[in-house]
Amino acid sequence: MPMSNVPDVAPGKRPLWIQRRDFTKDLADLVWYANTALSVEVVFAEIIRPKEMAVIYAEKGLGIINSLHCLGLAGDLLVYVNGFYQKDHQTYETLGAKWKELNPLNRWGGDFKRDDADHFERRPE
Ligand SMILES: [Zn+2]
Repeated sequence: MPMSNVPDVAPGKRPLWIQRRDFTKDLADLVWYANTALSVEVVFAEIIRPKEMAVIYAEKGLGIINSLHCLGLAGDLLVYVNGFYQKDHQTYETLGAKWKELNPLNRWGGDFKRDDADHFERRPE
């Protein structure tokens, strides 16, 4: 998805690209933590989601229209064990705790009412 080169600065807020840069650094830290401290294999799934796709997901009950994926402030990080994608909440609990530790704006999908354990996002400022 092409991104504008025009700074998107709102009063009292840092530009979105700066927020996305910091979110990306935290995701990199989370991957590093998974690979080193936990010896867990992870792969990225969806990061940026076009608005049109968010509408389709919402219609199918697979997501919400105002997903932070649309702002580039959410990422799905999948854990694999012996080549198999792990879907259970418990597998992601340590990663979720680490994610929230990295920044107070970070939220883990495992805490959502509708569990989304492989989802890691940052609240926009
Ligand atoms: Zn997600």
